[in-house]
Amino acid sequence: MVPAQRSGHSRRPREWLLWQRPKRFIAFLLVGEAIAITVLITATAYSPRPDLTDVVRFLILAAGATIHIQLTRRQEARRRNRGLRGVLIDLTAVWIFPAALVLPIPLIIALVALVRAQRWFSARRPAHNFLFSSISHALAASTAHLAYTALGPRDWGLLDGWQFVVEFGLIVVAALVYEAVQIVYVGSIIALNSARPTMQSSLGTKADNVLEAVTIGLGAVTAILLVIMPPTVAIMAVVTVVFNRLAELDQLQSDVRTDPKTGLLNMRGWTESAQRTFRRAVRSEAGLAVLMIDFDHFKEINDTYGHPAGDDVLRRVAELLTEVTRPGDVVGRFGGEEFLVLVSDVDALQAYHTAERIRHRVSTAAISTRGKRGEPVTITDRTTSIGVAVYPQHGRSIDELLHAADAAVYLAKEQGRDQVRLAGETPFRARH
Ligand code: GH3
Ligand code: MG
Ligand code: MG
Repeated sequence: MVPAQRSGHSRRPREWLLWQRPKRFIAFLLVGEAIAITVLITATAYSPRPDLTDVVRFLILAAGATIHIQLTRRQEARRRNRGLRGVLIDLTAVWIFPAALVLPIPLIIALVALVRAQRWFSARRPAHNFLFSSISHALAASTAHLAYTALGPRDWGLLDGWQFVVEFGLIVVAALVYEAVQIVYVGSIIALNSARPTMQSSLGTKADNVLEAVTIGLGAVTAILLVIMPPTVAIMAVVTVVFNRLAELDQLQSDVRTDPKTGLLNMRGWTESAQRTFRRAVRSEAGLAVLMIDFDHFKEINDTYGHPAGDDVLRRVAELLTEVTRPGDVVGRFGGEEFLVLVSDVDALQAYHTAERIRHRVSTAAISTRGKRGEPVTITDRTTSIGVAVYPQHGRSIDELLHAADAAVYLAKEQGRDQVRLAGETPFRARH
């Protein structure tokens, strides 16, 4: 796990962006690194000297990691460039975690250094950031090693019966220590570094953590193969390259359904989710509504403040829509300055109230952005026209509901904007 940050960086320490960060951030980073380095040096000093077996195992892991990194360089660079999220998962734990289990500390640190040196070329991130995550890898692996050896592991070749189970438990403990050190060390720096830290931006999404857990699991398998039948580690080199591909596929899959500007579902993603929810509603005979939201006079915002300001408004509206709706509702960007919300389990009146809530929330929002000359501006008193179509009375499919909601938007525009219109002929004039 490493803090994601892609701003331009210099390799000359004096020009590092680090020095422009808040003082408490710099202090935390430097103190954290100083403590970590002290721990690593002390642990190295007390570590037993590596013997020949250790060196051979180190060389095998180093070879596997090098194959993995070199064969996935381009792909990893693509994955990092695309990631919008706060946390990136580094699949090299497949090699570093086994080192934590079977190698003495000096060789663990050497392996981390080797892996990180190769990663440096595809990482393209500020040097202080890169250094920090390198130290966090070494610290996590060394701490996991100390915890594991303190628990008194046995020779894996000599185990039988219950001893296998006990040993498995010890490996799980080591994995938890490895993960916990990274979460605490890296999570706190991300939280400190962002204006509005959230659990997700600091700790990663569920998918990130599942990926991390699988990676560590593969690392444990690598360790066992390394000790019992060293040549089979070659299999793990192939597995990790393929696994890297799968991790990319997973991200591509979600990219295809996401609108990059707002992070909402795009039309493809919205339609897929809406169809699923719709089928469920039909089965359980529940009501459901489609809201189409069109921003009024959006062009004016672009013309007055420029397109980047317009984009900020779209992003803020997307956030507001997510805040105002329930987690089960499906929020998407239809295109341009139009949004869609599928509201579950509602009748016409409840759907109307949801739409009114959205209209009210947007019109009372104060959106901070920058104008054409970069001057700070606050955009307020903006309105929306919202069309509401309800299942089953206004349509018996998502497509029909979309058409009905769209027609209602036009009606709302015709009638003077800044209003919610229900599809069909019935004028619904309960404005407050
Ligand atoms: P109306 O009240 O009739 O809806 O007026 P409007 O200006 O909102 O509607 P119109 O459809 O005439 O214009 C939509 C504008 O939205 C035009 C387009 O440049 C702008 N727009 C569409 N997509 C984006 C975007 O992604 N970013 C920005 N900044 N503007 C966009
Ligand atoms: Mg429009
Ligand atoms: Mg518009």
